[in-house]
Amino acid sequence: MIALLPHSDAAWPVPRVVPGSSIVDGMTTWTNWAGTVTAHPAAVIAPDTVDELQQAVVAAAAHGTRIKPIGAGHSFTAIGQTDGAQLRLDRLAGILRADRETGLVTVLAGTRLHDLNEALWHLGLAMSNLGDIDVQTISGAISTGTHGTGATFGGLATQVQALQLVLADGSLLTCDANNHADVFAAARVGLGAIGVIATVTLQCEPAYALAAAEAPAQLDDVLADLDANVDGNDHYKFFWFPHTRRALTKRNNRVLPGTELRPLGRLRRYVDDELLANTVFDAVNRLTTRRPALIARVNSLATRALSARDYIDRSDRVFASSRRVRFREMEYAVPRAAVPDVLVQIQAYLARSGEQVAFPVEVRFAAADDIWLSTAYGRQTGYVAVHQYVRREHGSYFRAVEQIATAVGGRPHWGKLHAREAASLREDYPHFDDFVAVRDKLDPQRVFGNEYLTRVLGS
Ligand SMILES: Cc1cc2nc3c(=O)[nH]c(=O)nc-3n(C[C@H](O)[C@H](O)[C@H](O)COP(=O)(O)OP(=O)(O)OC[C@H]3O[C@@H](n4cnc5c(N)ncnc54)[C@H](O)[C@@H]3O)c2cc1C
Repeated sequence: MIALLPHSDAAWPVPRVVPGSSIVDGMTTWTNWAGTVTAHPAAVIAPDTVDELQQAVVAAAAHGTRIKPIGAGHSFTAIGQTDGAQLRLDRLAGILRADRETGLVTVLAGTRLHDLNEALWHLGLAMSNLGDIDVQTISGAISTGTHGTGATFGGLATQVQALQLVLADGSLLTCDANNHADVFAAARVGLGAIGVIATVTLQCEPAYALAAAEAPAQLDDVLADLDANVDGNDHYKFFWFPHTRRALTKRNNRVLPGTELRPLGRLRRYVDDELLANTVFDAVNRLTTRRPALIARVNSLATRALSARDYIDRSDRVFASSRRVRFREMEYAVPRAAVPDVLVQIQAYLARSGEQVAFPVEVRFAAADDIWLSTAYGRQTGYVAVHQYVRREHGSYFRAVEQIATAVGGRPHWGKLHAREAASLREDYPHFDDFVAVRDKLDPQRVFGNEYLTRVLGS
């Protein structure tokens, strides 16, 4: 029996069960975190077991209804949108197996990263790299190519050793580097197009702490020393504040096992990460939304107010922080060597257009990998992410940056706003047609399809 959603979940009105069917029917409205996508799924299904997940896919296909899993809804794009059946995998969460010796950990698809990190820490294990937040599901994160930073580290999907998928006919398929290797190469960053992930087996590593060093810097110095810093630190990234020549650098480096933790004090963490990064930042954005002319001065003031800080903490606590100010984001993966030029061109666009942007531009790095639709496929990658406050218009800024990044062979993050289509994306991914061939074989009826997938992969 397919489980109904809990009554207490206000965002999900309790749906009606269609007699004689396992599909739950009712009008619900779903909105993603950024408010960029709304959907009215015809049905919402919350399976308790993998067997029920298989039944749900079979039932949807029998109804002629498309079906789409959704994670934490933190994609900015309509990649998770459906007006068919929406699969919520919150109940398929937790660690199934963990081997401390090998570091192999198998988790259910709906596991949230913060729960995973906590459980791993208590097992003496950790993820090798993480992004800026930890509220995503493991399946949603890998499906869009979610990444952190570090010249020798890949995105989260590179830590995947095996996947168990529910295919469009309801059957289960386990794939890894040796079994169904083509499906494995496609489904690790599968955009939700290949099958519904039921379990993920991750290669974890012994738990480790990171020494975090954050410091303000001049953008010119950051760019002059870029290679030395990217290669000389385990996890290096920086934020550039538009309309200024100033930046904030973050260097996170692994410390020897047994090193004593020196986390930020509660007050400092509250002031920096809650008050300044969220509460005050939101107020500043509200003010500058009304008076954009103030942005250059406010950005300059903000960079002067930034102070250096050093601390040592659990890796997951250093990687992730809370982001409560709502924004829109676009992020492009460009060849690493192109990063300085892309920033210079963004700066020139802002100066030329007079457009005012209060959000810093975030720059990160990743190793080349071999996952077909990974944005870092086959090349050392620099990520350039641009943001705009939720109450402000982002269109012209993002279009300009997209043009700049596309001209240097940039690939858009699958979960962040972009306007690219299949024809041009095919040029950027050597295995694009191999991916489409796996999709054609496993989901010829497009049971897992939606408009976004039609746009980026073709019909
Ligand atoms: C505040 C914020 C910060 C972010 N920081 C980063 C960052 O640091 N680095 C980065 O790379 N990205 C970042 N992102 C983007 C985010 O990591 C991705 O969009 C990610 O996909 C969101 O995970 P989710 O669980 O919300 O997935 P959703 O957005 O809910 O779903 C994404 C896709 O995964 C599919 N999916 C979900 N579950 C399954 C399943 N079981 N089987 C098959 N497909 C499935 C969905 O159908 C959909 O196509 C950020 C986003 C926000 C809003």
